[in-house]
Amino acid sequence: MRFRRHGMPEYGAALVAEHLAVWPLLDADEQQHLLNDIDQLLASKTWEAARDFALDDTVRVVIAAQAALLVLGLSLEQYRGVSGIIVHPTTLHTRGERPGPSAGTVSADRLAVVGLAQSGRGPVVLAWDQALAGAHRSQPGENVVLHEFAHKLDMLDGVIDGTPVLDRELRDEWVRVCTEVYDDLVADVPRPPMRWYGATNPGEFFSVATEVFFEQPRQLRALEPSLYEVLLRFYRQDPAAREDTLQAR
Ligand SMILES: [Zn+2]
Repeated sequence: MRFRRHGMPEYGAALVAEHLAVWPLLDADEQQHLLNDIDQLLASKTWEAARDFALDDTVRVVIAAQAALLVLGLSLEQYRGVSGIIVHPTTLHTRGERPGPSAGTVSADRLAVVGLAQSGRGPVVLAWDQALAGAHRSQPGENVVLHEFAHKLDMLDGVIDGTPVLDRELRDEWVRVCTEVYDDLVADVPRPPMRWYGATNPGEFFSVATEVFFEQPRQLRALEPSLYEVLLRFYRQDPAAREDTLQAR
């Protein structure tokens, strides 16, 4: 069935509402926009299961929903470098050097990989159990789908340097703010809620910052307001404001 391309299933909206923790925080326009983008992603990308796995509607919809959320304020055009999505049932174990700096650390030992973003027109590779956990926010501040798709945004200009394609007026501020936090992490100075993995390289910094921006937005806004602000200006979304609304209810 790998060559047939399906869009949103009939009960797709119910799947999104069931699994995407942020769904009730979106307004009606955002919800409709998200559903349209999910449909597009399902229909326009190649969805493949690893050998020991099979894709069902839940797997495809839950992953597409998170990818669509990331670019809700931008456009699906941002994913023109994503040829497809390959889903494994759980964490993959690889040995030795793997292609692409986005893969994280290179090691001769067995390496646990929950996701990968291949460069160029390559696919995004994900572990389903981690993708589902991310949708439900079961690991605070972590979301493998947002992480890997953020790498694809970073790669759009051909370099993985933690800087996606930015408007000129944002670029200087972006580099200044991100470099200041990154340099501290590299020097072992904690900058919560950023995780240490963000000190791996600038590409990982951007992907981790993206996870925190969407998954712990109020903490990021409170503790790292400048970082929150440049991410808000890039993504054109205000996830902390959504959570303020929830608190006010
Ligand atoms: Zn990464």
